[in-house]
Amino acid sequence: MSLETIAVVGSSLAGLRAIEALRREGYGGRIVAIGEEPVMPYDRPPLSKQFLKGEWDAEKIALRHDVGDDEGIEWWLGRKAEALDAKAKRLTLDAGETLDFDGLVIATGARARAFPGAPDLDGCFLLRNLADAEALRTALDDASRVAVIGAGFIGMEVAATCRERGLEVSVVEFLETPLVRGLGTKLGEYVAGVFRGHGVDLRCGVGVEGFLGDGRVSGLALADGSQIEADVVVVGIGVTPNTEWLEGSGLEIDNGVVCDETCAAAQDIVAAGDVARWLDPRSGVHTRVEHWTNAVEQSVHAAKRLLHGPEAGPFVHVPYVWSDQFELRIQIAGEVRDGDEMEVGLGSLEEGRCLVAFGREGKLTGAVGIKRARQLNEFRDLIGEDTSWDDAVAKLRGD
Ligand SMILES: Cc1cc2nc3c(=O)[nH]c(=O)nc-3n(C[C@H](O)[C@H](O)[C@H](O)COP(=O)(O)OP(=O)(O)OC[C@H]3O[C@@H](n4cnc5c(N)ncnc54)[C@H](O)[C@@H]3O)c2cc1C
Repeated sequence: MSLETIAVVGSSLAGLRAIEALRREGYGGRIVAIGEEPVMPYDRPPLSKQFLKGEWDAEKIALRHDVGDDEGIEWWLGRKAEALDAKAKRLTLDAGETLDFDGLVIATGARARAFPGAPDLDGCFLLRNLADAEALRTALDDASRVAVIGAGFIGMEVAATCRERGLEVSVVEFLETPLVRGLGTKLGEYVAGVFRGHGVDLRCGVGVEGFLGDGRVSGLALADGSQIEADVVVVGIGVTPNTEWLEGSGLEIDNGVVCDETCAAAQDIVAAGDVARWLDPRSGVHTRVEHWTNAVEQSVHAAKRLLHGPEAGPFVHVPYVWSDQFELRIQIAGEVRDGDEMEVGLGSLEEGRCLVAFGREGKLTGAVGIKRARQLNEFRDLIGEDTSWDDAVAKLRGD
């Protein structure tokens, strides 16, 4: 069947990379990109780093400019898809109009989770999009103390950036160690040491009891009875996939758009990026990944799946994420769990430059590089090749 019109809902990283892949694969038909944000696609990682620091502007993080006659791509920006009928292949948009399609890419990503029960106070921010980052950046200009709730990647990046801007920074984390889900306890503690060395007040193992202030935030009350003064609070406690608009669509929604291992959610409908929960052929488990590289690689695969059908094959992906925090450029491939075998090589944590391999059940399962970009990529390949733990350790030791 020929696909005359392909709709792409969500015009950010995954949506854009899918569109580019469609054209690369020779698809010459109509593409309609529908995006809730009123701007052309831009890159989110700098929002917590160079953009928040004031070093980069919106122009610098643009992923693509609207060039008018854009290879037959129609950019319907500032428009939200409100509903999908998967069987009828029809989208309903916010103004009530409909769009019939022959193929659909769902790339609606995720949004930052609000702190449960948080009062509506000035000075409190979430960070997911350009508008959030602009508002936060402006607020930081007049701030002297910042409190960050959540020591995951976004929280720790925001904390490091604020500290580099010369602000007093506190981070409150309910778990005992920062970044524990990505790095495990040992490396999380190492990062905690780096943050404390930079003067960040890192408080782990304690929850936030409430927000202080009347009309405008003045601090946080913690579960241990202590308080933190702050004129800006940033909440970084994770994201929720944007799937509400798909209720009643006929697709299976369960913590994301449930897809098979080829990224197909239904006939002529694929999903990619932060919103997609695909059957990971490596683990046999439905998995949703919230990282940049997955959005890029999965959307390219999803585009091929849409054009070529099941023979596009399964999407095989070894997770990869980077995070910049102070002088650390942390890169993670695969998966790290507490209790895994662990081997440090090619330097040391004390030097701030090394590669750490992680293994389970005789296999290499994860790797973390600190200023070891090239070797980390090699280890990402080794994870994908199901390398044994012994071979990985030998490689790390240079045997
Ligand atoms: C501040 C920040 C820093 C980050 N840093 C890193 C990093 O260092 N390394 C890393 O690997 N990853 C990082 N990430 C994660 C990475 O940016 C995401 O994984 C990536 O953006 C996912 O792309 P996506 O296109 O799937 O989803 P998104 O980027 O979330 O885009 C989804 C788009 O769909 C739109 N949309 C939603 N619902 C609808 C609808 N119903 N109709 C129309 N449009 C809709 C949204 O408005 C949005 O524009 C960071 C993310 C943030 C927010």
